Amino acid sequence: MTVTLTTAATPETPDIEVDVLVVGGGGCGLVAAIAADAAGASVAVLEKQSRLAGNTALSSGSIPGAGTRLQAAAGVTDGPDVFRNDLMRVSGPHDADHLTERLAGLSAELVEWLIDEAHVGLTLVAGYKHVGHSVTRLHAPPSRTGAELMADLEAEAERRGIPVAPGQPVVELTVADGRVTGAIARDPDGRESRIGAKAVILAANGFGGARDLVAELCPGAQAATYAGATGSTGEALRWGRALGARTGNLGAYQGHAGLAARSGVLVTWTVVERGGFVVDASGQRIGDETLGYSAFAGVELAATGPLFMVYDARIEADVAAGQPEFAEIARMGDAVAGATAGELAQAIGVPGDALTATIDAAAAAAAGQADAFGRTAWGLGALQAPYRATRITPALFHTQGGLAVDRDARVIGADGAPIPGLYAGGGAATGISGRDGGNGYVSGNGLLSALGLGLIAGRSAVADAAVPDGEPNLKVQQGVTT
Ligand SMILES: Cc1cc2nc3c(=O)[nH]c(=O)nc-3n(C[C@H](O)[C@H](O)[C@H](O)COP(=O)(O)OP(=O)(O)OC[C@H]3O[C@@H](n4cnc5c(N)ncnc54)[C@H](O)[C@@H]3O)c2cc1C
Repeated sequence: MTVTLTTAATPETPDIEVDVLVVGGGGCGLVAAIAADAAGASVAVLEKQSRLAGNTALSSGSIPGAGTRLQAAAGVTDGPDVFRNDLMRVSGPHDADHLTERLAGLSAELVEWLIDEAHVGLTLVAGYKHVGHSVTRLHAPPSRTGAELMADLEAEAERRGIPVAPGQPVVELTVADGRVTGAIARDPDGRESRIGAKAVILAANGFGGARDLVAELCPGAQAATYAGATGSTGEALRWGRALGARTGNLGAYQGHAGLAARSGVLVTWTVVERGGFVVDASGQRIGDETLGYSAFAGVELAATGPLFMVYDARIEADVAAGQPEFAEIARMGDAVAGATAGELAQAIGVPGDALTATIDAAAAAAAGQADAFGRTAWGLGALQAPYRATRITPALFHTQGGLAVDRDARVIGADGAPIPGLYAGGGAATGISGRDGGNGYVSGNGLLSALGLGLIAGRSAVADAAVPDGEPNLKVQQGVTT
């Protein structure tokens, strides 16, 4: 139910009161709202943008679940311990180890809850392995898009009659006696509304779109092209810090090493899995690409000059068949062709002898010789003419650090105790991708934190607020017009 808040704020009384107020209408926010509604609370969602188009909608919608019935049906053996070990192996110890354990344990329930209770269409993504996962574990909508995931969540919120107010950013949290009591939102005409709530869930994502915060807290990603949603400007972190909240893992981020420099379309890392590699302006490789798309972004950020993904026509056809968005690379003119290595080198402006030597060395490594960078996986084997190359640039998708939360998504204050009435999830909360840089990111960590902490926050906000089951407490309706 799309609503507009119309009543001007008065300092004394809220215009609207709900049990649970959700700040941000992305994946975390909608899951939190649905979970709180399912637990019997009155809920409202405030969204800054004119439509629900945050990072969740931009994503490929891949959600990890360890031990789901979909895995069992596909003969995949998995469970929380295996998943937790995969996550910790990649991230190393960090500021939110308790969340890694909690979310790995919740992941199967999350996927099945999304299917059964939130009516999200999910299938197990088979066919290729994802970065960091020892087994097939990612579940995604049939279209493999976050847009479809968001459409399903929006439909469920609508079905439940949850008020969602787009174009009405929260500009301030209200606090009384150390307890968060609601928020002030601003409509497109600049009028402010005061919403009272027993619990406020910060689901406003991270600070990837706030250059000042990236420079201060996540400097490793400063030189990357920001490719996340424009709404991720760090308000949750700013409010939390002002309230004295603890923070964690602030230097961590999800990068992507394969943004096509011309069009901004993603060169999916499946190209690397099939045998592609990255060269710089000298025609030489710069590292082991199988580190993964996020970790390799860090390698690219340390390099100088233009970078190119080198692959062949076979890989192009194979990947485009499974991931139609990759076909855009060729359609939009980002894929340069060369009948020989020399021709390709000339087309992209790198030394021909060097590129030929690089392609030959990669072929030798694919045939079993030691690779200079230690790469051992070469997908379809040696590249074969005709060749392809796409100029790429490293991207920042989203920041992975944020407000410290406990196992129940309660925001932790300076004294180590929860700040009463305040919850956070997704990009607003501390992530599970290590402390620093893009190395600790495992595919699906973003949505696991968003949807998993959203589910936890929605439930615990209702439990803490002691909402009587089945007796929603929407006290004042007149400030809401549908
Ligand atoms: C291209 C791309 C691909 C990705 N693919 C994957 C993937 O396949 N799997 C995965 O796990 N992760 C992926 N990620 C990461 C994932 O998208 C994010 O981690 C996740 O969507 C974060 O969810 P969220 O709900 O916290 O944020 P969002 O979905 O961004 O929602 C936050 C919402 O809050 C709103 N907001 C912000 N400030 C305010 C305010 N002051 N008042 C009101 N509203 C506000 C924003 O406008 C936004 O709509 C990808 C990211 C990108 C950019």
